[in-house]
Amino acid sequence: MSRLVIRGARAVTAAGAAEADVEITDGTISAIGSSVGSAREEIDATGLHVLPGGIDSHVHFNEPGHADWETIANGSAALAAGGYSAFVDMPLNSLPVTIDCGSFDAKLKALSAASSLDFGLWGGLVPGNLDQLEALHARGALGFKAFMCASGLDQFPACDDGTLREGMRRIAALGSILLLHAEDPHVVDALTRKAIAEGRTTAGDFIGTRPPAAELGAISRAINISGETGCAIHIVHVSTVEGARRILEAQAQGMDVSGETCPHYLLYTEDDLEWLGGLGKCAPPFRTHADREGLWAMITAGSLAMVVPDHSPSSPELKRGEDFFKLWGGISGCQSTRQLLLAGALMRSIDVSVIAATTATNVARRFRLARKGEIALGFDADLWLVDLSHESAVRPEDLLYLHSVSAHVGQPIRGRTVRTLVRGRTVFAEGRAVGGAGARQLTRTP
Ligand code: ZN
Repeated sequence: MSRLVIRGARAVTAAGAAEADVEITDGTISAIGSSVGSAREEIDATGLHVLPGGIDSHVHFNEPGHADWETIANGSAALAAGGYSAFVDMPLNSLPVTIDCGSFDAKLKALSAASSLDFGLWGGLVPGNLDQLEALHARGALGFKAFMCASGLDQFPACDDGTLREGMRRIAALGSILLLHAEDPHVVDALTRKAIAEGRTTAGDFIGTRPPAAELGAISRAINISGETGCAIHIVHVSTVEGARRILEAQAQGMDVSGETCPHYLLYTEDDLEWLGGLGKCAPPFRTHADREGLWAMITAGSLAMVVPDHSPSSPELKRGEDFFKLWGGISGCQSTRQLLLAGALMRSIDVSVIAATTATNVARRFRLARKGEIALGFDADLWLVDLSHESAVRPEDLLYLHSVSAHVGQPIRGRTVRTLVRGRTVFAEGRAVGGAGARQLTRTP
């Protein structure tokens, strides 16, 4: 039996903050409070905060197939450096994409071999793989991901209405959940064709082809099909206040619908894309000042429950070029997400417990991740020991990604990672990832 006590930290949970020692026995939280007995191994955390380890439910590590874009070892080390203990990998942009048993097994093997953090997998829903959903679910897929518009990857096509409806029917029967990239393909495709035909290919032109109405229309359509089929859905990377409100309305009607936003929508507006260039290209694109501050307000109020990195790197060459439409879409940022949010929260007088909730607890609850996301008895000892007195900025030399580039370089951050634990095992300390083996596949509570 191994015992470890973290002594003297201020524990921050979704419910608030309090001084509390934390005892860990064999990787599980076994006691919390002021009367925790001594152990042979103790960590003096006086002056530090301890948060539940972050859970990144939206990340694109690129193995197998695109290890020249990002590796699982680099990506999971970067997450550990940023206070994350677990992640769920998207069914793209690895090759093959994760849409059948063979590709699922290949990804699982790669994750088991290289991840220092506990990990889960989303399966893909694409035209032609309806008959794979049950087997993917049985293999431990935590849910499924589909695109309502082009994904940018030929191997992962958008779902037509028929596939979406039948897919949701089957996913509902499995008691699982469908994650959706929601932008209306008709609007986006028509505007994109027109812009390219007219030779309008700047960052601003790109934004013009993906208007807020395209997001709102797709979210509404997804909610309608969810209502018809009884399928739980989750809208990924919501970029507008209107989109987030549409989800809230559905929730108020008792529907099983949720959404998330990403740090980049909380940091940048349309005006930033010109100077950020390819590093800031993502879809949906950055929005208005009102959206940015409105999303922060919804996070503060608890009406937008999740903020996830959507780390989606590529090789640096794919981010460079004159024609903005040809550049790779996706932002590198998982390592900095929690620290960026802490800085943004401080600026807006938002409590740290909101960050604990939106980056860990609410994620675990929504996706029913067993024993994750809380500092509570019987939960996995996934913990982030952080020095909140420390404020600095994102520096390329600190980034552990395969390519140390990010849209966020130069942005203010708050909190220095002192130690990150996964089930009581240290994965990051003293400025270094100390990974090693022992990661486990995430499971869902029934
Ligand atoms: Zn993504």
